[in-house]
Amino acid sequence: MNLTVVGTGYVGLVTGACFSEMGHNVYCVDVDESKIERLKEGIIPIYEPGLERIVQNNFQEGRLRFTTALADAMADSDVYFIAVGTPAGEDGSADLSYVIEVAREIGRNLDKYAVVVDKSTVPVGTGERVREVILEELQDRGVDHPFDVVSNPEFLKEGAAVDDFMRPDRIIIGSESERATEVMRTLYADFSRNHDKIMVMGVRDAEMTKYTANAMLATKISFMNEISTLCERLGVDVEKVRLGIGSDSRIGYSFIYPGCGYGGSCFPKDVNALIHMAEQRQLFPLVLQSVHQRNLFQKMMLGEKISTRFGKDLSGLTFAVWGLAFKPGTDDMREAPSIALLHQLIGAGARVLAYDPVAAETARRELPKAWFEEEKLVLTEHQYDALKGVDAMVLVTEWKPFRHPDFDAMKRLMKAPVVFDGRNQYDPERMESMGFDYYAMGRGKQV
Ligand code: NAD
Repeated sequence: MNLTVVGTGYVGLVTGACFSEMGHNVYCVDVDESKIERLKEGIIPIYEPGLERIVQNNFQEGRLRFTTALADAMADSDVYFIAVGTPAGEDGSADLSYVIEVAREIGRNLDKYAVVVDKSTVPVGTGERVREVILEELQDRGVDHPFDVVSNPEFLKEGAAVDDFMRPDRIIIGSESERATEVMRTLYADFSRNHDKIMVMGVRDAEMTKYTANAMLATKISFMNEISTLCERLGVDVEKVRLGIGSDSRIGYSFIYPGCGYGGSCFPKDVNALIHMAEQRQLFPLVLQSVHQRNLFQKMMLGEKISTRFGKDLSGLTFAVWGLAFKPGTDDMREAPSIALLHQLIGAGARVLAYDPVAAETARRELPKAWFEEEKLVLTEHQYDALKGVDAMVLVTEWKPFRHPDFDAMKRLMKAPVVFDGRNQYDPERMESMGFDYYAMGRGKQV
């Protein structure tokens, strides 16, 4: 098939690359000229394991093409994927301006039957809005091409995006048209060979499924974070509790790790968008509001522990921060807990040496320039370089190389062996026996 994917970010680029890997001809479109130029040179703008090879191979084979002009790509596409961002607006609602802009452009250029697929995460009712916008444009042109709008939310995880796309748990297709459903079934058959993973439902049902999945995962995290604080006060080890409850098959082990809060481009904005959807309908989304509030609180927790231990004024002190990305496996720092922590530390006068295996470039781009110019924040080349002469180390992202560090080297390098572990990576007893002053999340020891 001939496909067009509009938006070449984490979702769009992975979608386009994976479909081209299956033999389809794919045009990837983005308004960001430098991104498109770099992609044409084989430079992948994001860090995503396995993506580079697929993009480069399919580009060389001519199945994957990049352009800034949607009109170029519209010559003979059967399916248009909308995969642009839907960031949080000022009131917490999803900002649909990019989605609507793309829908308008599709309407301005459509010249034969096509399926328009909403892959971006969009509020319930957006499929209908996209349909209206395309119809308006067709009417303005005085033409009458049939088309269908389908919702096909994406469930990939950054850091494992290619794998998730190639081997999805389920493929949700929200469609009101048999013709469009058939097109989507054909397109996704290659990803559903092991057993039928395709679930067809209404467009609104599909839109809601995506938000509900993210909100459920965020709820599990916030719930465990709340329990972990209580555990800390009660002198209970939350890790024991986690194992104890996970063994119940109704609960399960996944997504019940306490930590220093969730971040990323999805959970925070999607929980907020769902809150907004409820409030617009005069409902009181008490659980969702608590999930969000708990997360804001949780992101401040490491900073709070540090100020309890060292005092409110941190001038003259230096801290190592291990991990800046919002989770391991990605260079994405959107809404990352590390950002809240850096503001707390630097805001209180501290200096920070930070190390992340892949997010350094993102950090240089996204964090305040003044921090770098005034050397309040220094990014190091190696995880151990960040430890030189520091008063404490704070682990924020659980990258694998942080799991089994050389503890002797750590003690030698640090001014004092104090560790704040935001991801419960180490064994408290072992850390204490090695002479570390060790603070984790909900493992019994209070600051
Ligand atoms: P992103 O910010 O990485 O990429 C969006 C891209 O769209 C950018 O490159 C931007 O330049 C481009 N764009 C914006 N307006 C455009 C236009 N008019 N024409 C062409 N390109 C345009 O976003 P993302 O993380 O890939 O997320 C995209 C959508 O998918 C969001 O709705 C998000 O909630 C959802 N989603 C994201 C993930 C994830 O892990 N990142 C997972 C599932 C779903």
